Amino acid sequence: MGSLNLNHSLKPDSDNLENLLDPEEFRRQGHMIIDFIADYYKTIEKYPVLSQVEPGYLRKRLPKSAPYDPEPIETILHDVQDHIVPGLTHWQSPNYFAFFPSSGSIAGFLGEMLATGFNVVGFNWMSSPAASELESIVMDWLGEMLRLPESFLFSGGGGGVLQGTTCEAMLCTLVAARDQMLSKVGRENIGNLVVYASDQTHSAFKKATQIAGIDQKNFRVIKTSRSTSFSLPPDLLRSTICSDIKAGLFPTFVCATMGTTSTTAVDPLGPICQVAKDYGMWVHVDAAYAGSCCVCPEFRHFIDGVEGANSFSFNAHKWFFTTLDCCCLWLKDPSALIKSLSTNPEFLRNKATDSKEVVDYKDWQIALSRRFRALKLWLVLRSYGVEKLRNMLKSHVEMAKTFEGLVAADKRFETVHPRNFALVCFRISPTAIDKNKLSQNRGAHFDDDDQDHDHECINDVNHKLLESINASGSIYMTHTVVDGIFLLRFAVGATLTEESHIFMAWKVIKQHAEDILKDYV
Ligand SMILES: *Cc1c(COP(=O)(O)O)cnc(C)c1O
Repeated sequence: MGSLNLNHSLKPDSDNLENLLDPEEFRRQGHMIIDFIADYYKTIEKYPVLSQVEPGYLRKRLPKSAPYDPEPIETILHDVQDHIVPGLTHWQSPNYFAFFPSSGSIAGFLGEMLATGFNVVGFNWMSSPAASELESIVMDWLGEMLRLPESFLFSGGGGGVLQGTTCEAMLCTLVAARDQMLSKVGRENIGNLVVYASDQTHSAFKKATQIAGIDQKNFRVIKTSRSTSFSLPPDLLRSTICSDIKAGLFPTFVCATMGTTSTTAVDPLGPICQVAKDYGMWVHVDAAYAGSCCVCPEFRHFIDGVEGANSFSFNAHKWFFTTLDCCCLWLKDPSALIKSLSTNPEFLRNKATDSKEVVDYKDWQIALSRRFRALKLWLVLRSYGVEKLRNMLKSHVEMAKTFEGLVAADKRFETVHPRNFALVCFRISPTAIDKNKLSQNRGAHFDDDDQDHDHECINDVNHKLLESINASGSIYMTHTVVDGIFLLRFAVGATLTEESHIFMAWKVIKQHAEDILKDYV
C-alpha cells in the first residue's frame, strides 16, 4: 500500500492530466458558455446599465491567490454570474446610450470565435496566407462600400490594414508622415515638426504625438466655435501654418475628424486637404465613430474631399457590428508606412516576402504578432450584406431623430447642436429655470450681470440630472462640455436598441428632470 501511494505521488497521474484542447471537452464547455452568453443577452435589461459597484469590490470577493487545483467550469461560471456581471457596465444593453456604441452582432461574435479558435499569429503572409489575403480583400470590399477613392484600395496602389484602435492608426500614420518629412528636412529637425488638430480632436491624437516624439510646444490646437458647429476652420489652419513656416518650423501633419467625439462635428475635408497640399503635409481623417454610416449613400457626402487625404480610419468596433477591436485604416501610400515600421530579422526571412508579391502586415503596425481580425469583419459583411447593414445604421439615425423630436417638443429641454448622425446632445434649458430660485439655490444674491455664475448653475442642474439618471441604472448616458456648456449625450447604436427603448429612455429622463426641477421652479 505504502509503495503504491509513493508511486502515485511521484508519477504524474495521467487520468487527471487533461488535454487542454480536448475536442470533446471543448464542445461541452463551449456550449455552456454560448448558453450563458445567450441567456445574458436575453435577460440583459434586468441589470443596471451602469455598474453600481464600489471601487475595490472584487478584491473583497475573490480569493487572495490562484487555485492550486483545477476548478470545474460550472463553478467558474457561477462566479462570473455572481461577481463579474455586477461589475459590468452593460454596453450591449438596449438602454445603453453612453459614449459611442460598442455594437456587437452574432456574425461579429462568431468571427471572433473562429479567429480565437484558429489562434494563428499572422505577422507575415507565410505565417497564415489566408489571414493576410482575407484582410486585404475585406479592406478593399469595405473601401468600395465607403466609395473611398480607388487610390486607397490595393487595386489602386494604396491599401488597408486592420489595427486595434484609432490611437494606433493615428500613431502609425503620424510616424510615417514624420519620417517622410525628416527625410526631406534632416533628422536633426525632429524638434521643429508641427502637427495640427482642432480643439475637438480626440485626445488619442495628443497621445500619438507624445509617443511619436513631437515636441509638445509644436502641437497646434486650432480653436473651433459654435458658429461653425465646432468644425476645424481651414482659414485659421492656413494662417497658423504660415506663421509656423515664418518661424522656421516644418508643418507636417493635420488630423481632421469626421464626427467628433463630443458632438459629432465634421471637419471640412476638402478645404483642409487643399491647405495641407499647399504645404506638403500629411492629412489623416479620423472617422472613428461616424465613418461606418458613410456606407449609406445619403451620408457619404460627409467624407467628400477624402480623396485629398493621405489616410482614413474608422472603428468597425464602434458602430459597425464588429466586436472590439477592429480599426480599419486605409492609406494611399502604404510604402511610407512600411518604410517606418518594417524590420527584417533573419528568423522571419522567407521566399514569399523576398518575392515582394505578398503583404506582410507586421510592417503596417506597431506590434509583430497580430490577430486574424479580418474574419469577423468578413462574417459581418457576408452575414448581413450591404443593404441590411445600411438599414441597421439608418434605423439608429431614425431613432436618434425620434429622440431629438421628443426633446425639441418639450420646452424644458433644448438640443444644442445640430444632429448629424445618431448622437443627440441636449440639456435642460436655462429658460426652464426660475432665475430667482437659481440664486436661492446657490445661496447668493441674484445679479443680472452675474452671467458666469448663472451659466455654472445651469451646468450644475444638468450634471445633477445626469448623475441621478445613471444612478437609477435604467439607462446610461454620458456628458461633454463644449464652449463651457454641459451637455448630455444620447448616443443610439447598441444593437439591441429598438424604438420602444427610446420612448422609455425619454420617460426616464423626464421623470428625473421633474424631480430636479422641483427645486428650481
Ligand atoms: C472613439 C474615438 C477615438 C478613439 O478610438 P480608439 O479606437 O479607442 O483609439 C478617436 N477618435 C474619435 C473621433 C473617436 O470617436
